[in-house]
Amino acid sequence: MRRVRAFFGGIHPKEHKESTNSAPIQVLPAPAVVAVPLLQHAGKQAKPLVAKGDEVLKGQLIGEADGRISAHVHSPVSGTVTAVQPRPSASGRSVMCVVIENDGQDRWVEREGHPDPVQLDAATIVQRIEQAGIVGMGGAGFPTAPKLTPPKGARIDYLLINGCECEPYLTADHRLMVEYAEEIILGAKLMAKACGARKIIIGVEDNKPDAIAALREKAGAIEVVALATRYPQGGEKQLIQALTGREVPSKGLPFQAGCVVQNVGTAWAVAKALRDGEPLISRVVTVTGSAIANPQNFWVPIGTSFQDVLDAAGGFSQTPGKVVAGGPMMGGAQFSLDVPVTKCTSGILAFGVDESKTPDSLPCIKCARCVDVCPANLLPLKLEAYGMNEQWDNAREYGALDCIECGCCTYICPSKRPLLHYIRFAKAEILARETH
Ligand code: SF4
Ligand code: SF4
Repeated sequence: MRRVRAFFGGIHPKEHKESTNSAPIQVLPAPAVVAVPLLQHAGKQAKPLVAKGDEVLKGQLIGEADGRISAHVHSPVSGTVTAVQPRPSASGRSVMCVVIENDGQDRWVEREGHPDPVQLDAATIVQRIEQAGIVGMGGAGFPTAPKLTPPKGARIDYLLINGCECEPYLTADHRLMVEYAEEIILGAKLMAKACGARKIIIGVEDNKPDAIAALREKAGAIEVVALATRYPQGGEKQLIQALTGREVPSKGLPFQAGCVVQNVGTAWAVAKALRDGEPLISRVVTVTGSAIANPQNFWVPIGTSFQDVLDAAGGFSQTPGKVVAGGPMMGGAQFSLDVPVTKCTSGILAFGVDESKTPDSLPCIKCARCVDVCPANLLPLKLEAYGMNEQWDNAREYGALDCIECGCCTYICPSKRPLLHYIRFAKAEILARETH
């Protein structure tokens, strides 16, 4: 298989995907109660359209996007709204949720699909994507419609579809590519039409040969490229570099390099919305890790609690030391299992107590290994020091805002220094000062 070279820097952590990469996606029935967050995307929280006591249908709009960078939210079940209240979320913050008691009847709203949606014009495609509440499903959750409408005058040469899934343990995108290649190809064509891209390229790491084969079988004129397996190959800027040789300017956006990047999950959601008229109300979640009894990939209704998903995977096989939402490199540790799955929850991982211990950090030995692996070409050891010593101007000058939070520096550091922790701290402070 021809392999494209990767990007600058990066690491190759142990993959740990073997427990679930050939496990077909199982459908998790909707639970008795869902708590659907009104903020599960980048930007502003959606405005609630329902109140306690209201009856809702599956697929009904229950939260309306508030401005351009926001997203609609729909009910994943039919039933009765029992509360609209703040609830804990996987991000650690409390988020307003619509709590719905499922009536088990699966009564849908009227769905308006299209037998051949590629015939629709670009504006209609964007409008339907917006109406379906679609956001980037690779993790960041940026609303898809504005990403497909770059500023006037910007020329988009490439729509790049990200099928890398470079985080260890996660296999949700992998299984989606194997089992839903047709939808992903359709979604890619629709998004290319929406943003005016001249060429579509799908990038998949070469540790997923079955996914590459499945996509190529349906791809037609779309190029499916096998990329070297290297973390963080799926980072937007890294993918652009690997697939087109172009570089996004510092603090810039992909459209400045003539590219729009979307995840394979997003492509699937776009196809479901345009072809079948279904909004984004479920997603694939990988449940795995040493403390999970039966690791699996599930179709999970949005708003299902982590506890319900873990129960479906047989619960814990040993006392967990850590439960993580997302991958082990960029995901966040959880303090409660009573948090809902969102449009961005790619995985729920649980690890035993020994694996979860945070190592004691030692002084920096100036080995520069963190510099060698940083895909953003930064000096992580300097940024860590600036963050620790609250030197925000220095952190800014040394490019803290260009950090993509991949965690490669922390992973490689022989002194086990919490580099990313302090860099995130510095980024948050810089951004807070800029907005005040
Ligand atoms: S500084 Fe940021 S971008 Fe560079 S390796 Fe560390 S986390 Fe990744
Ligand atoms: S990898 Fe760790 S020890 Fe080496 S220079 Fe970076 S911070 Fe220092």
